[in-house]
Amino acid sequence: MSYVFPPPAPVSVPVVGQAARFAVHRIYCVGRNYEDHAKEMGHTGREAPFFFLKPADAVLVAEAGSTAVMPYPTLTSNLHHEIELVVAIGVGGSQIKAADAHQHIYGYAVGLDMTRRDLQNDMKKQGRPWCIGKGFDHSAPIGLITPTAQVPDIAQAEIALQVNGIDRQRSTVAKLIWNMAETIEQLSAAWTLQPGDLIYTGTPEGVGAVVRGDTLTGTIAGLQTLQVRVE
Ligand code: MN
Repeated sequence: MSYVFPPPAPVSVPVVGQAARFAVHRIYCVGRNYEDHAKEMGHTGREAPFFFLKPADAVLVAEAGSTAVMPYPTLTSNLHHEIELVVAIGVGGSQIKAADAHQHIYGYAVGLDMTRRDLQNDMKKQGRPWCIGKGFDHSAPIGLITPTAQVPDIAQAEIALQVNGIDRQRSTVAKLIWNMAETIEQLSAAWTLQPGDLIYTGTPEGVGAVVRGDTLTGTIAGLQTLQVRVE
C-alpha cells in the first residue's frame, strides 16, 4: 500500500500499568447528563440522551506524571471546562444491551470536554451544528486510562475539577442521568462501537470559563489525576 502523503500515526492514550497504549478510534460525547448541569444550561427533566462527536485527533494527552499544555483556542473569549468520566471501549458492537455493556468497556479515564461556549451558544440559537464550539483542536484533554478491574467502584466515584486549586465542579458519577451501561445501549443503537472509541459521559454542574495561565486539575476517585495548563 502506498499513500500520496505519509498517514499520521494513530492518536493514542497511555494505560496505567503497561507499556501498550490505547489507540483512539472516535470520540463520542453525551450532552446534559447530570441534572444540575442540565438546569444551569436552562433545561429541566430527564430527556433522551443525545450525542455529539469530536475528531479523534482533538485528544490532548497528558502523559504519566506530566501537565498537558492546551493552547487557548482561536475565535473564542469564553472557553469553558467540563470535567467528565471517559469510558474507553475495548470490544466493539452494535445494538448492545445495557446488561451486557460492561463486557465492552476496557477502562476509564478523567477527561475534559473543553467548549467554546460563546460559539456553541451562537450555533444553538441559529439551529446550526455545534462542531465549532465542541470539536476543535485540543478540545478533548484526557489522562491515563485505568483498566476496569482496577476501579470496581467507578459508578459511585467522586468527580471534581479545580482551577488554580479552587473547586469549580464537585459531584459523583452516581448522579449520571443515563449511566454508563444505558449510554452504551443508546449509543450503540445509533453507531457501531469499535475498539478505541472514547465516550465522554457528560459533566456535572459548575462549568465556567478559564483563561490563559490557568491550571485545571481533574480528579475522579480511583483514576489518575488529569492536569492541564492553558497557554
Ligand atoms: Mn460535555
